[in-house]
Amino acid sequence: MHSIDIVSLFPEIITNYIESSPFNKNLPPDIEIKTHQLRDFSKNKHQRVDDTQYGIEPGMVLMPEPLTNAVNFIHKSRKKKPYTILLSPQGELINHATLEDLFQKENLLFICGRYEGVDERFIEEKVDLEISVGDFVLSGGELPSLLMLEALSRFSPGFMGNKDSFENDSFGKNFQLALKGPVYTKPREFKGKKVPEVLLSGDHKKILEWRKNISLERTQKRRNDLIN
Ligand code: SAH
Repeated sequence: MHSIDIVSLFPEIITNYIESSPFNKNLPPDIEIKTHQLRDFSKNKHQRVDDTQYGIEPGMVLMPEPLTNAVNFIHKSRKKKPYTILLSPQGELINHATLEDLFQKENLLFICGRYEGVDERFIEEKVDLEISVGDFVLSGGELPSLLMLEALSRFSPGFMGNKDSFENDSFGKNFQLALKGPVYTKPREFKGKKVPEVLLSGDHKKILEWRKNISLERTQKRRNDLIN
């Protein structure tokens, strides 16, 4: 992956997060992240980007024209046409496998909706994939975009200090679609509860076996839907 462009009415949410978190230090230098203010693409003299919804319901909808202008501008600025994603509660639910596929794309473009959402005609014309981060509704696509950004960055070999730790996380290569299970630190005993003996043994083979079993057990118990 080379670039991620993000179109939003509140791009500061994204830049503030990137600048203020340890995430910034770990950002892979090979991925260029750029935010764009949607209002800059409005031809209206008040930089208007939304209007009332047709029908009987109240609420504002993002107009197709500024969004189309933004996407066209970004297409021109990148060597390869970005794969365009609209963050939407009506999209496909995000998971590790989808992120793995998206990481293979050269350029990504995220569109953050607001208010009642985005005019459907823009989606039909310009959006390659709609992605939801869960079965609930947020006020905007900025947090979902950040979530995608951070999750995608972890796929980059330059991101994690230690590549093994990524593969050893839940859903990572070593766990496929499974949950990793519990982890422990000092002290050895806390309120009468001891760290599992095997973890103190130094026996790599036994520890790996314990990890495999506890991972399977937890996945069956909590996320049986992941098995198969
Ligand atoms: N009226 C819409 C919800 C709009 S919420 C509906 O009923 O489906 C406003 C914006 O927040 C959306 O356009 C989208 O960009 C973002 N958003 C809200 N919930 C989201 C979710 N679960 N996943 C991804 N984006 C979401």
